[in-house]
This record gives sequence, C-alpha cells and structure tokens, in this order.
Amino acid sequence: MNFELTSLRRAFRRVDRRFREVRLVAKALKSRRHPILAHIIPMRRCNLSCAYCNEYDSASKPVPIQIILRRLELLADLGTTSVTISGGEPLLHPDLDEIIRGIRSRGMMADLITNGYLLTPERIRRLNRTGLDHLQISIDNVMPDDVSKKSLKVLDRKLQWLAEHAEFAVNINSVLGSGTRNPEDVVTITRRARELGFESTVGLIHDGSGQLQNLSETQRAAYDAVTSLPKPFYTSALYDRFHKSLAAGLPNEWHCRAGSRYLYICEDGLVHYCSQQRGFPGIPLEQYTPAHLEREYHSVKSCAPYCTIPCVQRVAMIDEFLESPRTALARFFPPHGSEPRSRDLPMPIRVLTWLFLPPAKENWKRPVVNTFTRAAVWALRLK
Ligand code: SF4
Ligand code: SF4
Repeated sequence: MNFELTSLRRAFRRVDRRFREVRLVAKALKSRRHPILAHIIPMRRCNLSCAYCNEYDSASKPVPIQIILRRLELLADLGTTSVTISGGEPLLHPDLDEIIRGIRSRGMMADLITNGYLLTPERIRRLNRTGLDHLQISIDNVMPDDVSKKSLKVLDRKLQWLAEHAEFAVNINSVLGSGTRNPEDVVTITRRARELGFESTVGLIHDGSGQLQNLSETQRAAYDAVTSLPKPFYTSALYDRFHKSLAAGLPNEWHCRAGSRYLYICEDGLVHYCSQQRGFPGIPLEQYTPAHLEREYHSVKSCAPYCTIPCVQRVAMIDEFLESPRTALARFFPPHGSEPRSRDLPMPIRVLTWLFLPPAKENWKRPVVNTFTRAAVWALRLK
C-alpha cells in the first residue's frame, strides 16, 4: 500500500515537474532578460575533501537563513526561474528544508547538489515534503581512492534509499579526468544509475579556472563507452554540442552568458560568472540590476573555448536556439548515419519545432499550427 502511494505521488510529481520545466524553457525562449539558472552556496564547508575540488573548506559557518531568504527574494525579483543549491555540502546546513521551500514558494524550480553521505530514508522523506525538484549526487569511482571518496561502494545503499523513497528526480553525475584509479568505473556507475531508474551524466574535469584538462587515452575510451549508452535527448544534445569536441581536446565556439542567464552567488552574496571564475564581476546581489544582466549577456569570456562547466553550457543552448533555431538544432542533433535531418530530431523537439518555429516553407498547415501555438502559449501561462 505504502509502495503504491509513493509510486502515485512520484508519478504526479513527475508530471508537475515536466510541466514547469517546459514552462521554464518557454519563458527563457520568450525573453532573454532574466537569469534561467542561479547557483547559491548556503555554506562552503564540506564533510569530504576530494583532491580535485576547489569549492569547499573545512571550517566555514552556515549562512543564516534570513540572509539566504533575502537572496532568494532578490533572485526572484530579477526573474530567475531555477535555483540550484550547491556547496560545500548543503546537507550540512541546518535550515536546508526552509531554503528549498523558499525557492519553491517564489515560483522557481529547486535543485540540490550533494555528495549524498548524509542521506537517510527519513532525510529523503523530509526532502520530498519541501518540494525539491531535482537532486544530483556525484559518484567518481567504484571503490574509494586518494582522489575521491564519492564511491559506489559507499553510496550504493543511499542510492537504494533514493530509489525507494524519493519523489524528486535523481541524477548521478560522474567526473572523468579527475585522476581516479579506474576511469572505466564511470560505465559501471552509469549502468547502476539506470538500473535504479535514475538519470546519469558524465562531466569532464576542469582546472582552477574552468578549463579543460586533456583526457588520457584510457579516460577517452571510458568517455566513448559511457556516452554510447542510451540516454535522453537533452543529455545527448549537450554531449554533441559541447563535450564531444572537448573530449577530443578541441575548443568550442560559443557565447557564455554567465553573469546574465546564469549566476553564481557565493556564500558572501556576491555574483560571480561561475564557480571557477569567482571575482568576475564580483558585485553584491543586492546591487545587481537588469542593466548588469544586459551587459553580461553581451560580454565575451575568453575562457569559453575550453570551458567544461555543463550547467552554463546548457543555459547557453537555450539562447543559441533563441538566436538561430534551425542552426542550433543542427548543432545539437547532428545527423547520425545517412538519415534525413528532420527524422533525426527527437519527437519532443519535432513537436516544438512544428508549434513554434516559422515553417521552412509556407504551406497549407499554417492556420492549424497557429491554433495549436496559441493553445500551447495559453496552457503554459506565458501571456
Ligand atoms: S564532496 Fe563536493 S564539495 Fe565536497 S570536496 Fe568533494 S567535490 Fe568538493
Ligand atoms: S566560459 Fe563561462 S562558465 Fe566557463 S569558465 Fe568561463 S565564465 Fe565560467
């Protein structure tokens, strides 16, 4: 009975989440004048010390809840649609549940990145009650080593609890190139994630300024093996657009919109481009205005070609689509084999293209499409 209730609630939450995700993307496509995603850091302290990480300390205090709620208010005022809580380790913050509720009550999507060590069935049920949308756990290897203790052996029990109790979406992320003993572990981790019904992604290690560190031959082989596994279309689009070239050691041509469409708010309440470009622009969130968003939308970041920060790249894909939809789609979904282009596109993209893009050639279907387009805009409450 309990299991059936959880499955029912999970299904209901999935539909609700998908609807709000589609609305987030639609809002981002309708206007480029608001942040799509902001990372906030409620505390810098972490209970682990991964060798490759420059985003934690072992002593800092949690940011008081009233200060965090004020920052959420400011982000909502700027029109932010999604907030990811990161760290350090956010589960160490005594008021984490209130932070998540604060995000959701301001109409934004709430995501959490954690190392998972502090998860218990009761903690997962509490997270359900806050309205959390997505949770990401990073797992770097199968057995702990000197580089990382975020290991499948240590965390598998937590993953089983998540599979049993979580009503939010779970993603397992593995970082390749961090120097863990067996790079091919990412394949085992990805298979385990899928077996438990989770999504999974693989990231590429960066240096202290967000720049690619070239993969060794073994790491490259592990990357090829893991990315050849079946995956959702939005993950495959990110790999095709950005990661494929980086894994081969090649640069990407793109416009990073950090400071505008993506904001990184550190524990001191300053706006930075991203976790690896702290200090730029380094302006207090209290003083951040639409004029700053506009300026940073256009500013060129010299670190972009070899950048490996996936959340900023995902956001940039929305703007690429906004600026030149058909060119962007061709880059996100390059033809595989000899299939004609339109049949290569995933079904949801074909439907959205049909609904919202002007036809490549005028044809008799247009009046019908206009009716559906108006209905979709109404349903997403975009007017
Ligand atoms: S668990 Fe995350 S925040 Fe903590 S040291 Fe490792 S990578 Fe850094
Ligand atoms: S390109 Fe953008 S996201 Fe990447 S390191 Fe530079 S500022 Fe950060």
